[in-house]
Amino acid sequence: MLTTAIFPGRYVQGAHALSILGEEAARFGTRPLVVEDAFVVNHLHDSVTAALADMPAATFEQFGGECSQNEIDQLVEQGRKASCDVVIGIGGGKTLDASKAAAHALECPIIIIPTIASTDAPCSALSVIYTSEGAFERYLILPRNPDVVLVDTAIIARAPVRFLVAGIGDALSTWFEAESCQIKRASNMTGRPGPMSAHALAGLCYDTILEYGMLAKAAVEAQSVTPALEHVVEANTLLSGLGFESGGLAACHAIHNGLTVLKQTHDYWHGEKVAIGVLAALFLTGKPTAQIDEVFTFCASVGLPTTLADLGLKDVTDEQLMQVAEGACAPGETIHNEPVEVSPEAVFWALRTMDVEGRRRATMA
Ligand SMILES: [Zn+2]
Repeated sequence: MLTTAIFPGRYVQGAHALSILGEEAARFGTRPLVVEDAFVVNHLHDSVTAALADMPAATFEQFGGECSQNEIDQLVEQGRKASCDVVIGIGGGKTLDASKAAAHALECPIIIIPTIASTDAPCSALSVIYTSEGAFERYLILPRNPDVVLVDTAIIARAPVRFLVAGIGDALSTWFEAESCQIKRASNMTGRPGPMSAHALAGLCYDTILEYGMLAKAAVEAQSVTPALEHVVEANTLLSGLGFESGGLAACHAIHNGLTVLKQTHDYWHGEKVAIGVLAALFLTGKPTAQIDEVFTFCASVGLPTTLADLGLKDVTDEQLMQVAEGACAPGETIHNEPVEVSPEAVFWALRTMDVEGRRRATMA
């Protein structure tokens, strides 16, 4: 059997990592197109220009806010005009996805600098494209992962703590989904099963967030960089990214996708909905009591949702929850990578049971 794993070209992380951006960019070119979102323009632009002081030909573009084809086309046009030879994307998820897509169109190397640790998307060879109005349009599968992912933990530490916690929710799913794919010999994001390395990295991701999640949250609340924060940022960004792309996805992300059917969940972030997907998947896949206890206790300790009410679904009807379940089980969904029998009814039951268990625990606390 053929197995496949994919990786970013280089991963750099630490407090003030941004200061070596020029050194990293110089490995690829001298004329970077730098894509910054509004937050970066307002708070970090001076640090970025200082880091690129040796590159007077750098062109700076402010990202408009939506990763739409229109925005990507504009970035490509600016890149062509400036004859850029490397693209640098700095900001939140949509800025990074648009930068990846623009770099691909420009046939330039791409350096990715996330300013939050809220998902595992930075390392991936994937961009999510939306319409100009912000509705999901399509996935753009890129031929290779970013050339550099550079994470400045001093920037991450100053972001609102909810970003880090959401990233922990996304990372919580990684091992469970990689484990299911390994048992089923299901495909990862490349269309082939992942090797044992991907499974081991997913396991390290789980162990790391359980050990250091609470301590990392405390560090961000203190706007401080500690070793625990470094571990969790690495787990949220690198380990979870490698784990999902090369290990594979299964029920947790499919249930997340089902939850997006209900507009009440739209105010909640990807990792928060994924956490509910993890909790429901524990019941769907028949995990033992000790494991269910471990995951619920962990979610409550870091402030991830543990009931449907925590996701804006206090008054959700059976019909609505069935829509979620049907969405999760749509043909081609990753839930079919689970080694157990799945059906909309089984997912519905798992969601109802996870909610009862979450509420039982909340009243005990
Ligand atoms: Zn995810």
